[in-house]
Amino acid sequence: MFTKILIANRGEIACRVAATARRMGIKTVAVYSEADANAKHVAVCDEAVLIGPAAAKESYLRADKIIEVALATGAQAIHPGYGFLSENSEFAEACAKNGIAFIGPPASAIEAMGSKSAAKSLMEKANVPLVPGYHGDNQDADFLHTEADRIGYPVLLKASAGGGGKGMRVIEKSADFKDALASCKREAINSFGDDKVLAEKYLQRPRHIEIQVFADTHGNCVYLFERDCSVQRRHQKVLEEAPAPGMTAERRAAMGDAAVAAAKAVGYVGAGTVEFIANQDGSFYFMEMNTRLQVEHPVTEMITGTDLVEWQLRVAAGEKLPLQQSELQIHGHAIEARVYAENPEKGFLPSIGTLRHARTPVAVNFELGGATDPAAFRIDSGVREGDTISPFYDPMIAKMIVWGKDRKEALARMAQALAQYQIVGLSSNIAFLSRLVTSTAFSGADLDTGLIERNQAELFPAQVAANLTTLALAVVSLLNSEKSAKDSNDPWQSSHGWRMNSLMQRSLQFTEEEQTHDVQVTYLADGWQVQAGESKVQVRLALAHENDIVIKIANQTVAATVVRDGEHFHVFSQGKHTALHYIDALAHAGEAEAETGRLTAPMPGKIVAVLVNKAQEVKKGDALLIMEAMKMEHTISAPHDGVIDEVLYAIGDQVTEGAQLLAFQQ
Ligand code: ADP
Ligand code: ADP
Ligand code: MG
Repeated sequence: MFTKILIANRGEIACRVAATARRMGIKTVAVYSEADANAKHVAVCDEAVLIGPAAAKESYLRADKIIEVALATGAQAIHPGYGFLSENSEFAEACAKNGIAFIGPPASAIEAMGSKSAAKSLMEKANVPLVPGYHGDNQDADFLHTEADRIGYPVLLKASAGGGGKGMRVIEKSADFKDALASCKREAINSFGDDKVLAEKYLQRPRHIEIQVFADTHGNCVYLFERDCSVQRRHQKVLEEAPAPGMTAERRAAMGDAAVAAAKAVGYVGAGTVEFIANQDGSFYFMEMNTRLQVEHPVTEMITGTDLVEWQLRVAAGEKLPLQQSELQIHGHAIEARVYAENPEKGFLPSIGTLRHARTPVAVNFELGGATDPAAFRIDSGVREGDTISPFYDPMIAKMIVWGKDRKEALARMAQALAQYQIVGLSSNIAFLSRLVTSTAFSGADLDTGLIERNQAELFPAQVAANLTTLALAVVSLLNSEKSAKDSNDPWQSSHGWRMNSLMQRSLQFTEEEQTHDVQVTYLADGWQVQAGESKVQVRLALAHENDIVIKIANQTVAATVVRDGEHFHVFSQGKHTALHYIDALAHAGEAEAETGRLTAPMPGKIVAVLVNKAQEVKKGDALLIMEAMKMEHTISAPHDGVIDEVLYAIGDQVTEGAQLLAFQQ
């Protein structure tokens, strides 16, 4: 076995690989970019070496630098994680040339599966079923258009070199083909440096079911059953589970055998995933093979009681697979939720910022059924409180994985864990995930890749205004912090309204999205009366420790965490997160209204297309400019009819968050 490995990745996967290495007594070397100098993966490894600036191209994708570091530090093997260099056959080859073991498949297998088109041709020969489509070499736009017409709409365009859902375009009708092809090619060349595309029939209500395979250098190849990853947004996984609900033993064996056949066809070694798209009737087609460890591998680990990173290390060191097919069994049910820095209410737009407050549900105390039960709960995270989610890398904050003896138990545990997860400082999808796991469709296992879109009403309910208890929690937190400041004798902190005689009254205002809450506070001998609208209640602070408070409200005791972030009060109570904006009348005096007629960048990024010219007339909703940020394209559209005054950036320009992109007149 190796005594030292280099981990050529960052974030949660680098930390996860390091954890297994440590358990096995293997030393680890981290590499990091300038943006990651204080990152968690740097802290958890035994050594860490700076390899370049923030941009992945200049750091995590610098194969030469990484090999240099491996040689200099005496690492005998490199684990590439997922993303970055994990599916780069040249990197795998370069490792071999330098006498370093690449913890992954041989370069030839990566190469064979690297292009979705070539892989499909190969699978065709191995008799693995394929979705009807065109995956040939002819890339002529008119030819592809004819092919799409022949396949019949809806048609899906994919980047042959694609991954992470990038470049994918669903085309509903022939007239939309040209624009979709251009946009697919643009994203493909930007993301993968290759604009080759393939077209296939876009299946209706399909499920994404994938098989985990594992092969060693002794000719053994097994499958570790399936994962259902149907719940997606933007063709990217949000929830994953194993086993797949409704899977029969026969179909599992058929899919497992097809996956093993696919792996064997390319001389596969190590961990790999064969992705299938399945119809509701169970018929399935090969989609692609990911020649690496998958983001969602923990659900497989939980139901099989394995550590797949340990398997990877053993196989790379030349050992045999730890278990044979007949020794593998499914035990219980596991679900993973990907916690992303994004705003589900705004089309899942990625969000960046600092995790001012991050509390993971470590306190969740599950009763374990018996000694054979695996740990019921796991969080794989690459960030800690105080860390930032930057625009340079993937916006995933953490993966939360739960196990239960059956799906129902796993679901209940997931709901409970999500309710206890607190994040302040950026938008996250936690509340959305909570609604998703408890939704009728997901809890009823009515799965397909359109689940989120089909259940908009249930998943995006109209916001319920904060109730009096929530307002009271924010008020008590505010008054208590003012009181503490006052007790510390700061002359500037004497709270307004505090010293007036007899019944002291004060008006406070909070806003919540579009709502305004006017709250009247009356100071009482041992607490306050809090009134909003017609309802009023007496409140007393029972306990306060840092951000945690307990209040007595009417006859109830309510515990909460209230985190103040500037003017925002984040109230976490009873599994709900409410963000209240405190309008401090004094602080806002004289502030001007936000200007209109400007269009600004929602986040830092690069301009990839400018669709209008100076003096051009545009209609509300017209696309004006496309920028790429956090590996996604964002279209900036006209907020109303008007005329373009000025286009302030050109294609290729980098823009900072909030930068004015265009001047625009009504
Ligand atoms: P999987 O297919 O493994 O479930 P996805 O397709 O959602 O996962 O995302 C995997 C791809 O997304 C990777 O190949 C990589 O391009 C990108 N990616 C996701 N997370 C990260 C990360 N933390 N660091 C780098 N790349 C990432
Ligand atoms: P990536 O490399 O980005 O992971 P995939 O080919 O694996 O690309 O597809 C990603 C997702 O897109 C699938 O999980 C599925 O939801 C959807 N998808 C892919 N192909 C089809 C298809 N032919 N019909 C319907 N949905 C599809
Ligand atoms: Mg895929």
